[in-house]
Amino acid sequence: SDIDGSIGTVTPVPITVAAGDGIGPEIMQATLKVLQAAGARIAPETIEIGEQLYLQGHTSGIAPQCWDSLRRTRVLLKGPITTPSGRGYKSLNVTIRKTLGLYANVRPCVSYSPFVATRHPKLDIVIVRENEEDLYAGIEHRQTDQVVQCLKLITRPGCERIIRYAFEYARANGRRKITCMTKDNIMKMTDGLFHQVFDEIATGYPDIQTEHMIIDIGAARVATRPEQFDVIVTTNLYGDILSDIVAEMTGSVGLAGSANIGEHVAMFEAIHGSAPDIAGKGIANPSGLLLAAVMMLVHIRQPDVAARIHNAWLCTLEDGVFTADLAGHASSRLSRPFGSMDFADAIIERLGRTP
Ligand code: ATP
Ligand code: MG
Repeated sequence: SDIDGSIGTVTPVPITVAAGDGIGPEIMQATLKVLQAAGARIAPETIEIGEQLYLQGHTSGIAPQCWDSLRRTRVLLKGPITTPSGRGYKSLNVTIRKTLGLYANVRPCVSYSPFVATRHPKLDIVIVRENEEDLYAGIEHRQTDQVVQCLKLITRPGCERIIRYAFEYARANGRRKITCMTKDNIMKMTDGLFHQVFDEIATGYPDIQTEHMIIDIGAARVATRPEQFDVIVTTNLYGDILSDIVAEMTGSVGLAGSANIGEHVAMFEAIHGSAPDIAGKGIANPSGLLLAAVMMLVHIRQPDVAARIHNAWLCTLEDGVFTADLAGHASSRLSRPFGSMDFADAIIERLGRTP
């Protein structure tokens, strides 16, 4: 039980927190400040991952003992990581997904028009991307000195898990339609299996409208008529490309958060990278990580706190408060953008308000 009977308060939920590289520490500090002020019942355990660890000789960017924290808390709030360039360094993001079995990558993308200008004011799309298989399975080799090969791995259990997740997500979140995107006119076996499993599972959800589109025309339609889409479920590589495009269509990559869901562990992060070009200046937009934290609060069953933060954040945008990345998109008459911590304080001032 969550309730600590002796003093009538709720026991905080342990979560693992990793600030990451570049702007990571700045946006994490801003995010945790908002969470704390909003009364999130969490007990953060901090771990170090990323550049420092790579430099200390951990080729995956993480020390072995960090996994213990993750296995204990089963929840990770993570800042962006810089993978050093050069041979021998493995992407920590891919390692974390594989090691923890985070099979579903959920990326909600929403327009905040008129407060953030966009050509697509009605955009409200959730992309559910398969996160472990496809061309990311890591089966790549050299056949001869002139020929290299990467294998596309698609499994029936993998398809069933992600597609069922998409339908359950749609139901739980009041979404009406799911579009499946593949290229099964060309890859008849791999993408064909994904499409076939989609059709099979769809029969169990008569309350949800379904459709299938070939990824190329589907992506083109998303770019011109995003209001026609609701939830999109797709394989790893298509989902990766599509979700960056859709996030950018809402105004800034700094605005979107994501959830990476596994059987036992879930990881929450902004969709953007470590932004080394603006790191250390205190100007980064913490919104992507904050919205990821809002998804985390829903996941750990604190939807009340999640809604409180989300509403205050919306009110902040409505009041014309914005960070530098939104200059030119924001509707306000502010003479200069807010820094990361001032933006967090502006959200905190608005806790309790609803847009
Ligand atoms: P990665 O390879 O780590 O994904 P990337 O090459 O995709 O990195 P990002 O780090 O996401 O690049 O940055 C892309 C651009 O967006 C940069 O100019 C960066 O300053 C800007 N940017 C990214 N995130 C934010 C943010 N939270 N606030 C403001 N600007 C941001
Ligand atoms: Mg990127």
